[in-house]
Amino acid sequence: MARLNDKVVLITGSGSGIGQATANLFGQEGAKVIVNDLDEQKGKETVSTIREQGGEAIFIQADVTDPESVQQLVKQSLEAYGRIDVLFNNAGISGVGAIHEVEPDAWDRVMLVNIRGVYLASKYVIPHMMERQSGNIINMSSCIAEIGLARRASYSATKGAVLALTKSMQVDYAPYNIRVNALLPGTILTPFVENYLRNSYDDPEEGLKSIKSRQLSGDLGRPEDVAKAALFLASDESKFMMGSPLYIDGGVVFG
Ligand code: NAD
Repeated sequence: MARLNDKVVLITGSGSGIGQATANLFGQEGAKVIVNDLDEQKGKETVSTIREQGGEAIFIQADVTDPESVQQLVKQSLEAYGRIDVLFNNAGISGVGAIHEVEPDAWDRVMLVNIRGVYLASKYVIPHMMERQSGNIINMSSCIAEIGLARRASYSATKGAVLALTKSMQVDYAPYNIRVNALLPGTILTPFVENYLRNSYDDPEEGLKSIKSRQLSGDLGRPEDVAKAALFLASDESKFMMGSPLYIDGGVVFG
């Protein structure tokens, strides 16, 4: 029996990396997957892969930082499938630099995508979940919410905020039978991390070695590792988890 049979799942930023791996896995587990991304080509590729595997998916382009765009995303999702059972707030961007190195525009951009994006998608999906007295929201935080890492000021601030927001949302929406949990991945090998390595280290190979040395696992995670944790949160198997952080970090937080 598929673990997400007929559940309608909206995943923001699922044209790449963790979102893409999660969309693929959810498609294999029987979900109707709404793939959202800013990047049309990457989003459509995710949909093609899911369909090739026999799954069901549609692509809706939207910018999670723009209220009108997000309202359209929710409207089109409901027109296509009539409901949204699971919202995975996954879209996010990186930010590099200590406070004194980060320019205000770059700071704001990270806040916009990583926090405003979570706020807006939740804001426009939640009324529909409240009406149905049923819903499941997964927010993408990061292990960086709990450990200090050098030169990640803006990014750390957003992921800490997402974790706090998750708990606040859970309290507000528990009466409506809506669960809200957070994923806290460690370093996962995706285009996001490849860019980070290129932008932050003179020698990206050395950077990779240094990151690996911080992991108890001795290696980076893969997008599929996070997708499996997202599957657990999206399924009813996690029905007693509410407002919880779920670590998929190769031991970096506790190491
Ligand atoms: P990625 O860059 O591979 O994918 C992110 C996707 O989000 C891209 O397809 C991008 O086009 C999309 N996106 C960006 N801005 C958007 C916007 N405004 N509207 C809609 N879509 C937008 O990154 P990833 O590594 O898969 O990261 C996914 C999430 O996981 C992010 O929130 C990231 O912060 C978080 N995360 C990643 C890691 C890691 O090590 N890779 C660790 C912890 C948390």
